[in-house]
Amino acid sequence: MNILVLNSGSSSIKFQVVQTDSALIARDGDRCLAKGQVERIGSLALVAFQAADRAPLKEDVPLRDYRSALDRIVRWVISPESGIEGVTSMADIHIVGHRVVHGGEKFRASTLIDDAVLSGIEDCIELAPLHNPANVRGIRAAREVFGRGVPQVAVFDTSFHATMPETAYLYGIPYHLYRRYKIRRYGFHGTSHRYLAYRYRVLNKLAKEDVNIITLHLGNGCSACAIKNGESVNTSMGFTPLEGMVMGTRAGDVDVSVIEYLSHKEGLSLPEMITLLNKQSGLLGLSGLTSDMRELLEEEKENGDRRASLAIDVFCASARRRIGAYLAELGGADAVVFSGGIGENSAVIRQRVCRGLEPLGIVLDEARNAALKKGQTGRVSKSGSRVKIDVIATNEELLIARDAFRAVSGLPQPTYSPRKSRKS
Ligand code: ADP
Repeated sequence: MNILVLNSGSSSIKFQVVQTDSALIARDGDRCLAKGQVERIGSLALVAFQAADRAPLKEDVPLRDYRSALDRIVRWVISPESGIEGVTSMADIHIVGHRVVHGGEKFRASTLIDDAVLSGIEDCIELAPLHNPANVRGIRAAREVFGRGVPQVAVFDTSFHATMPETAYLYGIPYHLYRRYKIRRYGFHGTSHRYLAYRYRVLNKLAKEDVNIITLHLGNGCSACAIKNGESVNTSMGFTPLEGMVMGTRAGDVDVSVIEYLSHKEGLSLPEMITLLNKQSGLLGLSGLTSDMRELLEEEKENGDRRASLAIDVFCASARRRIGAYLAELGGADAVVFSGGIGENSAVIRQRVCRGLEPLGIVLDEARNAALKKGQTGRVSKSGSRVKIDVIATNEELLIARDAFRAVSGLPQPTYSPRKSRKS
């Protein structure tokens, strides 16, 4: 079956066409046939499409809204120009799978979208005002383009973390605020952490229950996850993706009193403060240069820029601290897994994050680490390291496609329920 996987952002759509079915899943043979993105929807959009083994297509074209952007994607996917094997008409796209950022406490598994589910996703907009509206627009656009005949499935960033015990998801604020408003840690990047746990299990030929690892997704957004017996027991992002580690433009953990203090000092409104913490902080805010790790590393190397170094060091310290926290949370782990654009591609960052962790049994092999090609999966710890260090290229789209296929075929989905808290 051919699944169109859509990741709809505030002014962009990223997509992949993935071929999957039960037999392909069983032998891990499902694959991406084409991928691409449309950015700057609403003005002169930037289109970049690429089918496997073909030259990329890049163009600037005015695209008014999500519907027009999706039309452009689908026209290309089914055209001879893309040359995707076995996809020559709309009928060759069998299912649409959507990444949905927030599923609240309601959605603990990937779900076939009907009107009730769509309105449930809309109800989560107040929890994720920056993300869910775009996901809803993507779903509506797909309904318009494909009609009701093509099933659509929602795969939630939050659902993998639904297994967290209440000791991990409750904040230390009055309990009635959790009951009344569902204020709690939800966690995000769940499909990525779930993929990393799955791939680690496959690579090491383990049963799901034997996966006890710490996963680090380091991209523009960054989060860590403590995985015990194959399930998420804690993660660094919280009520929103703002909490946790220092990221590209997000501050991560900050004493909330800073918000009141700064709003007085700088005359900023609450929404302006939240924008500052989401969009002007992290690597960008610390360096005053850029949120892009690759550029910061170049600045540091070529110009010895002190603020670039500082930003990188604060970033690495924040990731390292999280590893320590989750070793304690898990009572020890078998591996630390690096992923995301930074984790997969930067040997230097992996090295700086792991620096000083040797007494905890985490020993990087510098030669192996430096030799691992960008974006490749492999082990980079020393042979005797008690805790292994692995690099795994994440693949959220693959899991979205598999979940979509299972949901439509009536096959069981992984579902996630909260664990009982340990008495302490
Ligand atoms: P997103 O979270 O938006 O999916 P990515 O996972 O693609 O983002 O990660 C983007 C980040 O990865 C950027 O900061 C980019 O600079 C960084 N990155 C990509 N390649 C490298 C590299 N070779 N060295 C260091 N950082 C890299």
